[in-house]
Amino acid sequence: MNKAIPIGVSPRHIHLSKEHFIRLFGEGAHLTKQKDLTQGGQFASEQTVILSTSLGKIEDVRILGPVRRDTQVELSFSDAFSLGLNPPVRNSGDNEGTPGITIISPQGVVELQRGVILAQRHIHMTPTDAREFGVADKESVWVAVQPPNRSNSRSAGRSVIFGDVLIRVDPSFKLDFHLDTDEGNAAGVRTGDSAYLIKNIPVEKTSTDNIYPKKRLYSEWDVRKAKAEGKLILLEKTTILSPSAKDYGKLWNVFKNA
Ligand SMILES: [Zn+2]
Repeated sequence: MNKAIPIGVSPRHIHLSKEHFIRLFGEGAHLTKQKDLTQGGQFASEQTVILSTSLGKIEDVRILGPVRRDTQVELSFSDAFSLGLNPPVRNSGDNEGTPGITIISPQGVVELQRGVILAQRHIHMTPTDAREFGVADKESVWVAVQPPNRSNSRSAGRSVIFGDVLIRVDPSFKLDFHLDTDEGNAAGVRTGDSAYLIKNIPVEKTSTDNIYPKKRLYSEWDVRKAKAEGKLILLEKTTILSPSAKDYGKLWNVFKNA
């Protein structure tokens, strides 16, 4: 399906835990909303902090609300480079083994031990969108982005295909392809431009590494997992498929005759 997916370019930002917010802004302070973000309940606050390392600092880093369980800093690769950090690409909330940073506000300082990431690019969508696009939660897809024809565009001729785009499905989500500023700039696109999901990028699927663990009965869950991992399910004479496994397996082309 060739429905346009709106692009949302996320500038560097920070999510704070309640404890860190209090240490930075004082007991009794509240995050004040500057504007709502696309995803329901999320907002950009009026408050900002300074991020600092021994090699550099970045001022006016926007706090996104509401507060979260863990503090998380989301930077572009260029930001991280300017601070002398080398954070991994991670999904939101996966902070294990990530670098820390110093967070400074007018009222306080927090030495964050870990939580700096480059955000894994992703598409938010509802279960209805997922059915229409024929994709599943946590699946990795390819997305094509072409800069719109602006009269003064400097990005003509810089169309980009992004790989490793994570699908995130939740009834509360609104369709939105989230990129950071480096990724958006590389393709010459801005928030509100359009992206297109691409199916059938030819990926080699013949080696035995690409065969899903053998079972007698495969459920829809197996088919979704095989697809998400880029693996094929071998169909033998004795193989049993649940009805939905059969439908999705055919739709996504994950079956291979033994
Ligand atoms: Zn997002």
